[in-house]
Amino acid sequence: MGFSLTTHDYIDYIKRAYEKIHANGDYITELDSATGDGDHWVNLNMGFEKLVEISAEMEGLSLSAAFVKIGATMMSVIGGSSGVLYSSAYMAAAKAMKDVDTLTNQSLCNMLEAMLEGIMHRGKSEPGHKTMIDALYPAVSAYKTCVTENKSEAETLAVVKKTAYDGAQSTKDMEALRGRAYYQANKGLGHLDPGAVTMAYQIEVLMDFINEKL
Ligand code: ADP
Ligand code: MG
Repeated sequence: MGFSLTTHDYIDYIKRAYEKIHANGDYITELDSATGDGDHWVNLNMGFEKLVEISAEMEGLSLSAAFVKIGATMMSVIGGSSGVLYSSAYMAAAKAMKDVDTLTNQSLCNMLEAMLEGIMHRGKSEPGHKTMIDALYPAVSAYKTCVTENKSEAETLAVVKKTAYDGAQSTKDMEALRGRAYYQANKGLGHLDPGAVTMAYQIEVLMDFINEKL
């Protein structure tokens, strides 16, 4: 039997993601100060802090209803682009997981793909634009390949995590076509995109969390 995450599990993951984001404030703020307006960490940290605060309210909900709540909370709490984009991601996830009871290897892959499409649609962004998509897109592609090739769940989790990390790192050599870095003289070249790094954090924490359950 493979892994199977309930709403309760997902809330536990959110708490861990908050810890990871919370612990990296100086680094992420430094990245967004170089390519943007310096608020990305404050924005995302505030959003996750609020999710942890309201976590008890989500406990009894279906996955889909919990994702609606997460999306609405991120929209209302996070000021910057990331608020709108993460809200779009979770609303798309809610829609895709409407008839799903728990997140299994296949449904988690579908959920992440829905989130990716939600962000790309809302942000009119593609891979290579130097955004959070550059961590999520390769991770979803790798996940789909692992599912198709029937890789073990342990291997899949490791591959997805590494691909997200590498994707975030690849933004260093990109010139931005979306986000505030686009308005910088050098388009952020030579700097990591903060949103790609925090996206990779979330994927890393999720993959590690699931790995402990295998
Ligand atoms: P803002 O840019 O409004 O200050 P944040 O600082 O919270 O918002 O978030 C910045 C991050 O959002 C960027 O590092 C980038 O990863 C992501 N981002 C910005 N615009 C887009 C977009 N159109 N599509 C995807 N991601 C984007
Ligand atoms: Mg910003």
